[in-house]
Amino acid sequence: MRKTGRIVNGFRQKPLELEAIDMQPTEDTMPLVNATSEPACALLPEELVELLSTMGQPSYRARQIFTWIHKKGCCDPSAMSNLPHPLREAIGSLGTSFPAQVGESLESSDGTRKLEIKLADGRSVETVLIPEGNKLTQCISTQVGCAARCRFCRSGHAGLLRNLTAAEILAQVHLARPFHASGQILRNIVFMGIGEPLHNVEAVARVARILAHADGLDLSTRRITVSTVGIVKGIDRLGELLGGDIALAVSLHGASPETRALLVPGVKETPREIVEALERYPLPQRRRFTIEYVLIGGVNDTDRHARELVRLLSRIRVKINLLPLNPHDKTELLPPTDERVLAFQKVLIDKGLTAILRKRRGADIGAACGQLLGLGKTKRGRPADATPTS
Ligand code: SF4
Repeated sequence: MRKTGRIVNGFRQKPLELEAIDMQPTEDTMPLVNATSEPACALLPEELVELLSTMGQPSYRARQIFTWIHKKGCCDPSAMSNLPHPLREAIGSLGTSFPAQVGESLESSDGTRKLEIKLADGRSVETVLIPEGNKLTQCISTQVGCAARCRFCRSGHAGLLRNLTAAEILAQVHLARPFHASGQILRNIVFMGIGEPLHNVEAVARVARILAHADGLDLSTRRITVSTVGIVKGIDRLGELLGGDIALAVSLHGASPETRALLVPGVKETPREIVEALERYPLPQRRRFTIEYVLIGGVNDTDRHARELVRLLSRIRVKINLLPLNPHDKTELLPPTDERVLAFQKVLIDKGLTAILRKRRGADIGAACGQLLGLGKTKRGRPADATPTS
């Protein structure tokens, strides 16, 4: 039988069979799996070598072009000064520019900045820059909308419209560069914006490889995190594609099948099935999974829920991030009381687990976890000066 998929970095990229999800259909729902025909700005150097060889170009040109785009942030072939002029003209049609542009920019009182990323089809997503001293964490989106429909999340409210291409995901990193303050360094990338990354796992793996490439941004793989709501086939596939190299965060929000189904109605996997997938995942020694748990008043924040979580996680290495619900206009759910949050955390810590209470960042501009929307615009926060800061 003929094998499908192309070879990248020594292994075959098989098309992912996605779990049937109870999606909200839209009139123009697009295919869930992207075609692999990405433009030049989303190709790895070895793929650029292949492409350029068809034009009779030596392989070192591929590295030069990759470096211009991903390290120097220059997508204009006419400015790629170490390429011969005929080649600069020839690669103009290969897609060296990212297919998106920045729309609105909002800045929070805590320095967090949210950018609207306008896509070529008229839709938009959002990306968030979160400063911590001179280090930046960028949260990027992977889909327009989301099929998981977490009850507390604005992004999933309208259901899934389509996957982003790898070029559209990378565009968020590229387009945000001029908004880094002087001296700020992009340190962490989290696939935690709009969308479920593992419903778009092939594109996500491609983007992670490009971001970590030594000739590009050269980000440490430990500092690239995929945050999933727990898609079992996607977790298995990510392990196959990247060998456990990048960090994995799993948003559980409930340890019993009932609580989980209530809060994440669009995903059928039970907490136990998710944990079994994590047990199979090739997590390197001395690394831990991050478990994200949004605490919701009266729904999943009692001591009983905490004890269920302890039992569920007893066989895997984890640290737990507790995030009190960020309220917004698309959910009727309420945040927990401060006392409940501390009591929940104490149950976990008393059982020997690492449980960290996460600060809200960017809540005043709708940039905190669960508040991103895309497609439309938040009315909160003040519009920031759209002029790049460096
Ligand atoms: S929290 Fe994440 S997975 Fe859940 S609906 Fe929102 S974007 Fe999707």
